[in-house]
Amino acid sequence: MNPPAECLVGRTSVALSQLATEFGATAWRGKQLASWIYRKAVADLGAMNDLPAGFRRRLAERFVVNPLHVADHRKSSDGVDKLLVHDGDGQVFECVLLPYSKRVSCCLSTQVGCPMGCTFCATGLGGFDRNLSVGEIVGQYLLLQGLSDRRVDHVVFMGMGEPLLNLDALLESIAILHGEVGLSHRNLTVSTVGLVPQIERLAAAKLPIHLALSLHSPFDEIRSRLMPVNRRWPVAEIMATMRRYQKATGRKITIEYLLIDRLNDTEEQALALARLLRGVPHVVNLIPFNYVDTEQGFRRPTRERVRAFRRTLEEQGINVTERVERGHDIAAACGQLAGQHEGRFARRSRLSVLPVTS
Ligand code: SAH
Ligand code: SF4
Repeated sequence: MNPPAECLVGRTSVALSQLATEFGATAWRGKQLASWIYRKAVADLGAMNDLPAGFRRRLAERFVVNPLHVADHRKSSDGVDKLLVHDGDGQVFECVLLPYSKRVSCCLSTQVGCPMGCTFCATGLGGFDRNLSVGEIVGQYLLLQGLSDRRVDHVVFMGMGEPLLNLDALLESIAILHGEVGLSHRNLTVSTVGLVPQIERLAAAKLPIHLALSLHSPFDEIRSRLMPVNRRWPVAEIMATMRRYQKATGRKITIEYLLIDRLNDTEEQALALARLLRGVPHVVNLIPFNYVDTEQGFRRPTRERVRAFRRTLEEQGINVTERVERGHDIAAACGQLAGQHEGRFARRSRLSVLPVTS
């Protein structure tokens, strides 16, 4: 298979201006190029009709604009688009467009697969291939913007992979989404399993983005069963880090809480979660388990159990939201579309080792 062509997506307007001068055009042409790519989400050099034809031809000999190809496109009955994409090497990953009445959001992947091995997650069960590049991360956003008549103004990094294991590319992608595409930092959310050193680094960057911690239980014993990372950084340690992050950035922290029937949806855990959040500006987002065949028999709780868990939290003064569930008919939950694919795009076998060392 041919190596993927070099791509333009992922370069800042400064870098594109430099490239323009290397290709015999003025630096201004680089700014125009950036505007076509990032502001208009155009991926075809042929359509960029205010750029000189010779310049575009020379660029096209060496570069593609967006490195991504669409392997599958599914539309759900409730307006969600899910793309399964790859950059020519057959390793697929997914991204989702989520239109709401007042905003349009999208969910991006940061890795092909994920090495964290969470036991409830289709991506985790499929193993890990590699980190995504900046071009591949921003490329997902631009493909989804190309599908939407409305501006895609919110981004959540909640697709495949653990964003903080690919922190350099994540930070560069955020810089492009903010500086070139023009998105507000406040509309960007990074979801993490809770890697202490990387959260410290993110706190030091002092970007006003949202950080969401996937907690899923206030009890170490249960959290470790769900998320092997908890053996490295247990609940008390990760919550202390999240509190420091909150102070450093001034943003509320989001706690994501997956609800699995009779495992982590008990009153005792709701009360313990409330204690952990006392005095911390926060919001708790409840996510009923999306069925994945885990061999552990995890099940989704009934509506009544979700309501009871929510009520207990609210009685303790906790701010609670529930994930609006969309795109059920196209398996829009984390990792599920790639997991369903067969043949060349089939999911990999399960990784049993957790490669977290520091
Ligand atoms: N790796 C990051 C971000 C990607 S996962 C993280 O774990 O936070 C995004 C969210 O989807 C996480 O909160 C994760 O716990 C949740 N998730 C994974 N599998 C799920 C499932 N089967 N049902 C519901 N939510 C799931
Ligand atoms: Fe990775 Fe997040 Fe899935 Fe865990 S939940 S395996 S960290 S993608």
